[in-house]
Amino acid sequence: MTVWSVIGAGVAGLAVASELVARGAQVQLFDPAGPPGPHGCSWWAGGMLAPWCEYENAEEPVLRLGQAAIDWWAARTQVHRCGTLVVANARDLPDLRRFARRTDGYSEINRDEIRALEPDLGAFGKGLYFEAEAHIDPRQALHDLYHQLRDNGVTFHHGPAPGHLANAIDCRGLHARDMLHDLRGVKGEMLVIRCPDVSLTRPVRLLHPRMPLYIVPRGDGIYMLGATMIEAEDSSRITARSMLELLSAAYALNPAFGEAEVLEIGVDLRPAFPDNLPRVRRLGGVIFANGLYRHGYLLAPALAQGVADLALENKHSEMVDEDCA
Ligand SMILES: Cc1cc2nc3c(=O)[nH]c(=O)nc-3n(C[C@H](O)[C@H](O)[C@H](O)COP(=O)(O)OP(=O)(O)OC[C@H]3O[C@@H](n4cnc5c(N)ncnc54)[C@H](O)[C@@H]3O)c2cc1C
Repeated sequence: MTVWSVIGAGVAGLAVASELVARGAQVQLFDPAGPPGPHGCSWWAGGMLAPWCEYENAEEPVLRLGQAAIDWWAARTQVHRCGTLVVANARDLPDLRRFARRTDGYSEINRDEIRALEPDLGAFGKGLYFEAEAHIDPRQALHDLYHQLRDNGVTFHHGPAPGHLANAIDCRGLHARDMLHDLRGVKGEMLVIRCPDVSLTRPVRLLHPRMPLYIVPRGDGIYMLGATMIEAEDSSRITARSMLELLSAAYALNPAFGEAEVLEIGVDLRPAFPDNLPRVRRLGGVIFANGLYRHGYLLAPALAQGVADLALENKHSEMVDEDCA
């Protein structure tokens, strides 16, 4: 039986391995950094499964393919199906209207309705509620995929893959730039904070002309606060400006966030192609799955299905880059 070798155990590699195993294939995985952890971009994500909100600023496939991600993840990890709330301060209401014009799948809600959903956001008079959206805890999702794969007989090699491996699928994220020359890094900075004084149950986006913020609840008063989008190749440190803007936006959402403890600072580079859409490519006998940009968890299921279609059935889904198939 053919053994498929998946190289890289970020969300792309684990999702590809999971999809292949679900279709009965035999798989082994290589990652010199070991099990998923802070070395991978996937560790720092918010985990929002928010195709309608993302469509405000993304191509149509993100909306269409992203909707199927919620059920894909629900079969593998805990999915919180409690929607997304988008709010803006009174002076930024034009931004809320612009956001509404560019997407759909929402209802417009007033102060009482916002309060009914999130009592700690009573200061906002208008919002958009995307009821069908969901979120996951990315670290839990990586952990769950990793252990499900091990339980299903997938061997993990915590070392580099040998050269000239047959049936290889390269999911090295930005490390694949040595072969994918049009891949670039988009810097993202995030914070994890603890603030038991504020209680939110769903991801909230605050529209702000300078720094649109999202905040994702992780439970027990812990929140992921993100994320900057900077065209840069340096992922070493958060800048003072980003830190100030992220924390100011949280403070604008609810001043009680001023008392939050900062638990973690995360910085990484999202792997992205020029149009910010992911691709499956075949180059020199290796299948490459990459370019998840800011849609790692949202589009990894569609990317994985595209790889499995190509690898197992030689079927070309829309993910396949026909110039390199
Ligand atoms: C701050 C921030 C917030 C984000 N928020 C979201 C969000 O809310 N929702 C969302 O969907 N996406 C989000 N993203 C985007 C998402 O994190 C990325 O799209 C995704 O992590 C890319 O996954 P990947 O598997 O391609 O890369 P990675 O996670 O970087 O994985 C690549 C793996 O390859 C391994 N590797 C490297 N070299 C080799 C080698 N030679 N051999 C074998 N293995 C190797 C690495 O060790 C690593 O484990 C966010 C990103 C950032 C930075």
